[in-house]
Amino acid sequence: MVTAATDRPGTNWAGNVTFRARSLHRPTSVARLQELVVRSDRVRALGSGHSFNRIADTTGDLVSVAALPRRFEIDAAAGTVTVSAGQRFGEFTGDLDAAGFALHNLGSLPHISVAGACSTGTHGSGNGNGILATAVSGVELVGADGELRTLRRGDPGFPGAAVALGALGIVTALTLDVRPSFAMRQTVHEGLRGFDDVAEVLGAAYSVSLFTYWSGAGFDQVWLKQRVDETPPPPRWLGTTPADGPRHMVRGADPAHCTAQGGEPGPWHERLPHFRLDFTPSSGDELQSEYVVPRAAAVDALRALDRIRDRIAPVLHVSEVRSIAADDLWLSPAQGRDGVGLHFTWISDTAAVEPVVREVEAALDQFDARPHWGKVFFTAPTRVGDLWPHLGDAEHLLRSHDPEGTFRNPLVDRYLSR
Ligand SMILES: Cc1cc2nc3c(=O)[nH]c(=O)nc-3n(C[C@H](O)[C@H](O)[C@H](O)COP(=O)(O)OP(=O)(O)OC[C@H]3O[C@@H](n4cnc5c(N)ncnc54)[C@H](O)[C@@H]3O)c2cc1C
Repeated sequence: MVTAATDRPGTNWAGNVTFRARSLHRPTSVARLQELVVRSDRVRALGSGHSFNRIADTTGDLVSVAALPRRFEIDAAAGTVTVSAGQRFGEFTGDLDAAGFALHNLGSLPHISVAGACSTGTHGSGNGNGILATAVSGVELVGADGELRTLRRGDPGFPGAAVALGALGIVTALTLDVRPSFAMRQTVHEGLRGFDDVAEVLGAAYSVSLFTYWSGAGFDQVWLKQRVDETPPPPRWLGTTPADGPRHMVRGADPAHCTAQGGEPGPWHERLPHFRLDFTPSSGDELQSEYVVPRAAAVDALRALDRIRDRIAPVLHVSEVRSIAADDLWLSPAQGRDGVGLHFTWISDTAAVEPVVREVEAALDQFDARPHWGKVFFTAPTRVGDLWPHLGDAEHLLRSHDPEGTFRNPLVDRYLSR
């Protein structure tokens, strides 16, 4: 949780990053935000602070847009909603549903801000579902010159705007594509052996998550999030057993923190996330890393991880495998290729986890694994340059919008200075 209420920046949610910014500002109007940007030599936005690295940090001024006037504007004819950037998903998805609309997908938790999530390429799951930022059709931001401007889908450079690592400006509002609201059911199955059925399982529902503790080859839990019009799997589906009650994917954690399971129908925004807004998501005492490999390489990548599972398991809460549809956003983890996310919720011991993260990266490198921008990773900048073919385009866009580097920080400089 971001601990500062007024002017001390505090830490990120996980507590592994203490922000180095000189102050944290919470402007209550766009005009005040513009003044701040004009006066500051270095400024950076902070969302809800759920990233696990220094991506949000700056040595200058940190700014939260959460106190800007709330915006929630549905344009039914255009099929869009415009929301203020600092809102957490859980703060507007209920209203969107009540109006008869839905987003195409959500991440595992409704606690994250919409701008923060989009900026890092946050994703949910589903063979047909792009990352959350693929819904973005407009980005309203305060640029380095202090001017408020909107970049729209179709504008030159737009593919670099929705996932921009916070370096294009301070986003004040996002326009998102919506679709008619839909109902879903979530069921948990246990005991999927081996990796041979992974492709079938990932395609078995609108959104699928596979969980493993790496104590053996295969998966301890499979969470299926189906639209109510999808056919549920049979009871002994692929050798699995339906869970006999609610489950949390972290061993020993309270399933009351998770969204309803057991096939109970409910709205999309109460089934797509794993966690409920009013409860602590995940373990709460953790670090995270994630790598997106091409979907066609997923099973081989899982087998490579299985070979080092004795290294992974002792520092792991749980691993999750999800599917992501290809997109054309320059810094997206699924840019140009359908992907599978291989995620690790680690224990909160940085010293014990770091060497294992490096071993995971070495094992996955042969599969062109792209790291999640908002999680713990050590991938070398030259390698990152190979992994994202449009990195140079993104760098050019950022330079043209922000020649003095007002919005840059060491992490952005490390990966986007080519
Ligand atoms: C428990 C937990 C579960 C998670 N589950 C998932 C998941 O299911 N899928 C997934 O992909 N990731 C997941 N993540 C990672 C998370 O989605 C990302 O780290 C995301 O960026 C967090 O959003 P935030 O609002 O906290 O952003 P922050 O961490 O606050 O900021 C992230 C980036 O966004 C930028 N930013 C924030 N607001 C603005 C703005 N207004 N204008 C410009 N830039 C801005 C910041 O400058 C920074 O670069 C999870 C994290 C946690 C802690």
